[in-house]
Formats: sequence, structure tokens, C-alpha cells
Amino acid sequence: MNISVVIPLFNEEESLPELCTWIQKVMDENGFSYEIILVDDGSTDQSWTVIEQLCSGYSHIKGIKFQRNYGKSAALNEGFRAAEGEVVITMDADLQDSPDEIPGLRKMIVEDGYDMVSGWKKKRYDSTLAKNIPSKFFNAVTRRMSKIPLHDFNCGLKAYKKRVVKSIEVYGEMHRYIPVLAKWAGFKKIGEKVVEHRPRKYGVTKFGWERFINGFLDLASIMFVGRFGKKPMHFFGLWGTLSFLVGLLLTAYLIVSKAIDPEYALTNRPAFFMALILLLLGSQLFLAGFTGELIARNSADRNNYLVEKKLGV
Ligand code: UDP
Ligand code: MG
Repeated sequence: MNISVVIPLFNEEESLPELCTWIQKVMDENGFSYEIILVDDGSTDQSWTVIEQLCSGYSHIKGIKFQRNYGKSAALNEGFRAAEGEVVITMDADLQDSPDEIPGLRKMIVEDGYDMVSGWKKKRYDSTLAKNIPSKFFNAVTRRMSKIPLHDFNCGLKAYKKRVVKSIEVYGEMHRYIPVLAKWAGFKKIGEKVVEHRPRKYGVTKFGWERFINGFLDLASIMFVGRFGKKPMHFFGLWGTLSFLVGLLLTAYLIVSKAIDPEYALTNRPAFFMALILLLLGSQLFLAGFTGELIARNSADRNNYLVEKKLGV
């Protein structure tokens, strides 16, 4: 199978038939073999009924329904697990992403050898400036921290080699950082393609301004887990030791001062309090490091390496 199209959706009943017809048209024109996987993320409208009708009418449309709303990341993850195509394309269900981009994206994966290609909504059609300006800032920070040169991390329209989606796990709200997840998993060729973006035709957006706060918290944790997730002691141990050592030096200084001059008043000095705090902080950090190591040691994927090639084994 050439292509799997994975579509996470939450309350998008009006868009689905139009979207599927459009995708089918593009696939047929290009002669691709394909499947469309519609992942209903616990919709409360008629989306699932629509999906049932579509599935019974067309054999290459498939449906997955969650018991409740788990979020876009969970929906994508479930779609990735089911996908069978050599190239996996994700797109939003709201007709903001154009299926006409599929052949171009596939070409970059198959012919130019990209592991993943992210869409770039260069000209956006979202309702408010309040969405576009924070989004620019958000992308700039993510670009700097992850060192992946993309303009639009959160674009719903993306293409992957099958191997990539089978190797990463999208959880929590990490759908904003799939390029970062892919990079951590060792996929280096991450490209970008300017794609057409359209105004939302039906329904309403499912994400508000909280997305930016959550987005940055997620970025902080993903960067931390990526760097120190398997060796937390290297982070906590370093800062714990430094803090403890400086505290110890200050304590020694205070003891010596007191020994030389018995009149030396200990408790009204900043150095005294600093020493106390640094010693406590240092041991706390150290303990956090140990706890982290114990968790890492017991985690199910502690040896979950991705083998690229093997010879004679
Ligand atoms: N979505 C989802 N689960 C959710 C929220 C959103 O599957 O909990 C889907 C939604 O139906 C759409 C896509 O994720 O297909 C992008 O959502 P939306 O269009 O609301 O985001 P925006 O375009 O405003 O960034
Ligand atoms: Mg949208």
C-alpha cells in the first residue's frame, strides 16, 4: 500500500464526507493505493455515524472510535499503530489542510528520501491575530531549543516514512512536537514544504489560548526527557554536588571564623543561611537524581533502542 492517511477528529461531522471525497479524488488521479484512517476522538456529535456510513460505502475508509475524548495526540498515536501504508500522511479533519498537497509530500518522502516532512502554513487563515503571533513566538523557541529548522511545528499536515511512525509514541499533548520526537528517535532528514492553508469551513476550533502555556511546559519536559530521561543523575547529580560543595565551603568558613574569634556571631549572617539552604538543596537534588535513576532503571523502554541495520547476526 502506498499511502495511509491518518485523520484525528473531534466533532467534525459536517466536514468528513467532503474531506473523504476530496482525498479519494486525489488518490485516484495519481493512481495510489491507499487507506483513510478516521480516528474519532470521542466525538459527541454525529461524527461516528458519518464514519460508519463512509466505511460501509468505501472499503479503503477505516474508522477507530475512542470511548471518550483523549486528545489529538492519542488519536494520532492510535492511527499510527493501525497504519499500513509505506508513507503515512496526517491531516486535520476540518478541511483546513488541502488533500491536493498529498502527492507533493509523498514525493519528498519517496524520491528525496526525507524521513518526515512537515507542512508549513506560510499564509494562515485562522480567525485571530491572537493565534498567529504567539504561534510565531512558539515556533521560534521550539526551533532554537530543538535545533530543527522548521517554521511550523504544529501543522496538522505532515508526511512520514512508515518506520518513523512505528518508532515513536505520541502521548499527552506531544502532537506539537512530533518532529522533536522523531529527531530524538534518530531520524535526521526532517524537511518542510509550504502548504496551502484554508479557513475552517464548518465547526469550531478545539484549542484555545491555553495551548501556548501547555505547549511550553511540554517543550520543557520533552527537552529534559530527551537529554536526561535515561540518565537523570547527570543533571541532578551535577547541580546537587555543586550546591552541596559550596554549602560545605561556607560552613567550613563559618566554623573557622568562629574558632578564631569566639565573639563571632553566626546566626545573623547571610552566609549562615546560605550555607544551610545550599546543603539542604544539594542533598534534595541528589535524592531527586537517585529517585529518577530508580525510575529509569525500572522503565519498560530502558533498552528500547532502534536498530537500523544488522550484519551477520
Ligand atoms: N482534534 C482531536 N481531538 C481533540 C481536539 C482536536 O482529534 O481533542 C482534532 C480536530 O478535530 C481537528 C484537529 O485535531 O481535526 C485540529 O484541531 P483544530 O482544527 O480545532 O485546531 P486548529 O486548526 O484550530 O489549530
Ligand atoms: Mg483546524
